[in-house]
Amino acid sequence: MTSSSLPEGLHPETLAVREATARSQWGEHSEALYLTSSFVQSDCETAAQRFANAELGYTYTRTANPTVASFERRLAAMEGTECAVATSTGMSAILLMALTVLKSGDHVVASQSMFGSTLKLLGSEMARFGIETSFVSQTDTQAWEAAIRPNTRLLFAETPTNPLGDLCDIAALAGIAHAHGLLLAVDNSFCSPVLQRPAELGADLVVYSGTKILEGQGRVMAGAVCGSAALVDKIMGPFMRSAGLNLSPFNAWVVLKGLETLGLRVRAQSAAALELAQWLAQHPQVAHVHYSGLASHPQHQLAMRQQGGLGGPVLAFDVAGQGSEQLRANAFHVIDSTRVCSITANLGDVKTTITHPASTSHGRLSEEQRRAAGIGQGLIRVSVGLEHLDDLKADLLRGLDTLA
Ligand SMILES: *Cc1c(COP(=O)(O)O)cnc(C)c1O
Repeated sequence: MTSSSLPEGLHPETLAVREATARSQWGEHSEALYLTSSFVQSDCETAAQRFANAELGYTYTRTANPTVASFERRLAAMEGTECAVATSTGMSAILLMALTVLKSGDHVVASQSMFGSTLKLLGSEMARFGIETSFVSQTDTQAWEAAIRPNTRLLFAETPTNPLGDLCDIAALAGIAHAHGLLLAVDNSFCSPVLQRPAELGADLVVYSGTKILEGQGRVMAGAVCGSAALVDKIMGPFMRSAGLNLSPFNAWVVLKGLETLGLRVRAQSAAALELAQWLAQHPQVAHVHYSGLASHPQHQLAMRQQGGLGGPVLAFDVAGQGSEQLRANAFHVIDSTRVCSITANLGDVKTTITHPASTSHGRLSEEQRRAAGIGQGLIRVSVGLEHLDDLKADLLRGLDTLA
């Protein structure tokens, strides 16, 4: 693999537009899209050396591809980790982590409020391979430590969580993990390295759904795991070459482009989300706003410390109403009355998205589980995009001002 000639010590904003593999002989200014499944070798001896890994050089895209490598280098640089490995989706990043750092007989402690497919992958799918997971409170650090067993290998946190913005204290969990000789992994999909760099707080692995905020324009699926060379390059790299969970070069190129505007997007979307949260909190038909950027959020102090002083683009609010039937009808009315926001599950997109978690992302949970997670029938999630805020407010008022 080629290396770029950038000086040391550059800031994340600079790395976000500059870090990549070296230019080709054509001197392209924008990172090239190497949409090729294999690479032509000059002669048999070179091919033999490269296939034996004795010489660096591209052979086959499942093994390595320069566009994918550019995305990996840029993300690792922004995250402040030695390495990153790109995967086809966020879920395949989590699968890659599970299949490399865990083995049959191992135990994991994870948050009960994680992304739904993560709960399913760890809770049921991996159980068939003899990997057991205990799910504990998102916010109660002591519960995490209490759940550790002699065969525990990994603590896996996702912070902040969807849709209420509850946090895990990353530094505290890292302290616990390392005191017990365990690894801490953090799913950073909601914050991105612009707001939160878990590795700086002690996490050993940082997991991403690149589908969300990293790409930011809702176009492709992607994922990544960031960490040390010892874990990512030495253990996950060889596994990837056999397992083929790879990110396609085209999707890598799209996300690579997304990283260039990540800082601007996340800061603008966080500022808009904060203003919208403050405005919603004043509306008579809004019972409660859940947003870590608001002083009313139970973990506001931790959020500001851990997330670079910003709350991120996602907020949630409960519409006013009595009883679950009326709450659900009111939430549906507000969502269905919008004409600018998209009723769709993606988040971190430049287009504002609006959802009803109780009937979509959290629809598979029982009413009791949902109540434990704080997801009522009146809850609405908004991932704030880049539209003018006045248009978003007017869009929400269409429903809020016409509730029976
Ligand atoms: C979406 C998401 C995932 C899964 O990512 P995909 O790219 O959809 O596979 C994992 N974790 C979090 C926090 C997510 O929001």
